[in-house]
Amino acid sequence: MTFIAKRLSNIKPSATFKIIGLVKDLKAKGVNVIGLGGGEPDFDTPDFIKEAAKTAMDNGQTKYTNVDGTPELKDAIIEKFKRDNGLEYARNEITVGTGGKQVLYNALMATLNPGDEVIIPAPYWVSYPDMVLLAEGEPVIVDCPAEAGFKMTGVQLEAAITPKTKWVILNSPSNPTGAGYSHADLKELTDVLMKHPHVWVLTDDMYEHLVYDDFKFCTVAEVEPALKDRTLTVNGVSKAYSMTGWRIGYAGGPAELIKAMSKIQGQSTSNPSSISQAAATEALNGDQSFMKPWIEAFAGRRDLVVKMLNDCEGIDCPNPEGAFYVYPSCAGLMGKTTPDGKTLETDEDFVSYLLESEGVACVHGAAFGLSPHFRISYATSEEALTKACERIQKACAALSGQARAVA
Ligand code: GLU
Repeated sequence: MTFIAKRLSNIKPSATFKIIGLVKDLKAKGVNVIGLGGGEPDFDTPDFIKEAAKTAMDNGQTKYTNVDGTPELKDAIIEKFKRDNGLEYARNEITVGTGGKQVLYNALMATLNPGDEVIIPAPYWVSYPDMVLLAEGEPVIVDCPAEAGFKMTGVQLEAAITPKTKWVILNSPSNPTGAGYSHADLKELTDVLMKHPHVWVLTDDMYEHLVYDDFKFCTVAEVEPALKDRTLTVNGVSKAYSMTGWRIGYAGGPAELIKAMSKIQGQSTSNPSSISQAAATEALNGDQSFMKPWIEAFAGRRDLVVKMLNDCEGIDCPNPEGAFYVYPSCAGLMGKTTPDGKTLETDEDFVSYLLESEGVACVHGAAFGLSPHFRISYATSEEALTKACERIQKACAALSGQARAVA
């Protein structure tokens, strides 16, 4: 199809949104499907946040706002960075977009020239490499297998940096693995970055608050303040406040970069929804205590899922530090045969088999750059998770033949 721009030729549709859409369609048709595909908390947005949105509407806050965020929301973000991360930003160092996704996209579009390299540790969130490609950059993928805790080491980072490197993208706790970089893990990386002043860091901290056991979240500019003037600290209200549909993400970074990002937004979408911004202001300024029981619930769900998946022959599920994902290996199932006579060659075959045979929807590992794995989002009820894991156990038990060794 020649009418479509060449820049789309090697861009894939978002694998996560494909599953989210598929599950919605199947449910609408009355199919009994359990959706563990999309990363979205099942909790309702807290009432005090919804009230702020209603008040905003009643007060006529239904018009354009400043392109990259209202002063009120920017101030709430400044306070949040101070409170949670010990980071000081001024208003002209803050930008607000329609979800973290737009903020990331703006940053890459505003900075990449053709051929500029962006280091992305794999497994990665599905959209990073494609956003880099859309901005005509080159994703440089660094493999971080389960044995390394799905984390990039300083040695790997050093080896990946070239004179063309513009950014490294870090995401902790990670989507899709839930792996969290400790202070020491990050220090190892920031020590390398200190030697390469041309490399900037884009840190996606969207899952900051969703950490379990004794894990302590920290972010790059906090671990190495000397990197703050080349770090974009990205965050948002989607996951921790259960506000995925409101579409509010934000970032703190150097004023020149923030201004360039705002230029892109001003020529594309303009401001994020005025009503959502009022709600996000209240979310960040308001009482945060609702989060504690949510985090406890997520931790319990994680334990349940990790245990039940490890009880499946052929599945090996690490126990992650945060987010609401697990990223089990299905290497022990590759080469086995389904009751319909199909041999499982890839993780995509496995997730298709789970959906078709048991009505359980997950996302295949290839979409996140590390196979053979699959991602489960456990941001749903214990009851649904138990049922889903029982179905996965049943599907694994129904496979026959020997697993083939996976290199
Ligand atoms: N971030 C969520 C996920 O990974 C929502 C979909 C998306 O933006 O990719 O499932």
